[in-house]
Amino acid sequence: MDDALTGARERMVEQQLKERGIKDPRLLDAFRKVPRHEFVPPELAHRAYSDNPLPIGEGQTISQPYMVAVMTEAADVQPGDKVLELGTGSGYQTAILLELGAEVYSVERVAQLHRQAHDRLSRLNYSRWKLKLDDGTFGWPEFSPFNSIVVTAGAPEAPTPLLEQLALNGKLVIPLEEHFSQVLYTIVRTERGFERHRGERCTFVPLIGEHAWKHDPRE
Ligand code: SAH
Repeated sequence: MDDALTGARERMVEQQLKERGIKDPRLLDAFRKVPRHEFVPPELAHRAYSDNPLPIGEGQTISQPYMVAVMTEAADVQPGDKVLELGTGSGYQTAILLELGAEVYSVERVAQLHRQAHDRLSRLNYSRWKLKLDDGTFGWPEFSPFNSIVVTAGAPEAPTPLLEQLALNGKLVIPLEEHFSQVLYTIVRTERGFERHRGERCTFVPLIGEHAWKHDPRE
């Protein structure tokens, strides 16, 4: 692989992740392994390791590396865990979860992104993943319960089907609140009910579906 890209990836891990407090060595290693430049449109490959989200077509984005790290850390993924992801997008977050040893079920509502992510994950030889083209706010009941659910789009409230499909001690990581500005919440299913932990402010594209925003205000 191109040395310049390898160097850029190592700098991303050092400056954007480690220096901002991401410590888990397994997580940092996952970011060292996944070739992020393969997950962006070819004309943006030279910007793949920059400190921001990038457009991936269809009005959607691949999240900023740091935000992917914060969400993955909050999801507390262990090898062998079953993880549901909403918003496959480029498939980058899916690949990070796979590098951590999870079995990943990921749902995307835009056909072209779903198809491209499918081709990309196959081409990069990842295994133990399933992608579905659907409204992810219904979850994926056949494969539930999940140890973690990671939602990479912003919702007004946690979709009820997702709460129902969480395993005991499972974690739902989801940006909530307004259309254009959210707070990252981690919701844990305990024996006493659901515990909500408020995290940092963030900006995501909207989660559009039956149990979220009913339509994209940008369309
Ligand atoms: N995890 C992605 C980020 C994609 S951005 C990555 O690493 O590249 C969020 C994605 O959520 C978009 O692709 C958008 O189309 C998708 N999305 C929005 N609402 C959805 C829904 N109800 N079900 C599934 N996907 C949805």
